[in-house]
Amino acid sequence: MEHATFPPLPLVVICGGTHGNEMSGVYIVREMQKQKVEKAGSVSITTVLSNPRAVEACKRYIDTDLNRCFTDALLSGPITDSAPYELRRAHELNAQFGPKGSEEAVDLLCDLHNTTANMGLSLICYSLDWITLHIYKYIQSKVTSVPVRLIQLTIPISEAYSLESVAKHGFSIEVGPQPGGVLRADIFNIMKEALDLTLEWLQKFNSGSTFEGGEVEAYTLVGNVDYPRDPMTGEITAVVHPQLQDNDFKLLQPGDPTFLLFSGKTVKHEGEELYPFFVNECAYYEKKVAFQLARKITLTFPSISVKLDR
Ligand SMILES: [Zn+2]
Repeated sequence: MEHATFPPLPLVVICGGTHGNEMSGVYIVREMQKQKVEKAGSVSITTVLSNPRAVEACKRYIDTDLNRCFTDALLSGPITDSAPYELRRAHELNAQFGPKGSEEAVDLLCDLHNTTANMGLSLICYSLDWITLHIYKYIQSKVTSVPVRLIQLTIPISEAYSLESVAKHGFSIEVGPQPGGVLRADIFNIMKEALDLTLEWLQKFNSGSTFEGGEVEAYTLVGNVDYPRDPMTGEITAVVHPQLQDNDFKLLQPGDPTFLLFSGKTVKHEGEELYPFFVNECAYYEKKVAFQLARKITLTFPSISVKLDR
């Protein structure tokens, strides 16, 4: 693969509290604001609590999930005073850090999330972004305390629904397990380390370092699995099976148990061998998702460096 160059990446936005009860990001952003962290070498940093009302209430959201509001359709629609709070907030954030897909958009947006699932440290991104892949490779080479993985959502950017999609480059840092409304030191430290490494990489990139190309493994989303439900009432009739619980990213083979029905019977995985993740994520009960399934892929990328027009 040929060497690629990119313009410098001086404008970076760090967001926490996009989901108001995901505490690591909330307190990392608050601490950065308290310490007035506005620069890291060549990088100018803006910190923001994306959903302040949900943070105040310590809830995922007030009216609707903010991190599903950033599709082109929702951002281009009309906005009225009676619109859901999060949709109004999405328009504000898009005006401030985008507009999505425009030349004025900030260079990189990093959104901090927690999951109740036992996923370690994951970067979640859309399509193939070489900047994100290089940052991922850098973080993976430095973090040793937990597995570091990349989850790729193969959605066209116009349909990309999450906050980081308003920037030129962006990803979510997802760390767990941590219950909603709870802070754990181990999880906090992992997120802080991933964020510090991201800022370190950006400074090196802007100052002219060349980053070698290569390949990384990634997980690409294949689909969602709902809980077994009572066809009459819609109520769930099972819990995630103990052999699947906490085993995110452990290959699920046909015949492996997935659910324990309240009746005592076991439900088994059928079909293709795939990797489960977001297993028993608290916030996904309302989305009718017990876990998601991914395929492992290999992504190849070129060496990159900054393009200086001087
Ligand atoms: Zn979240």
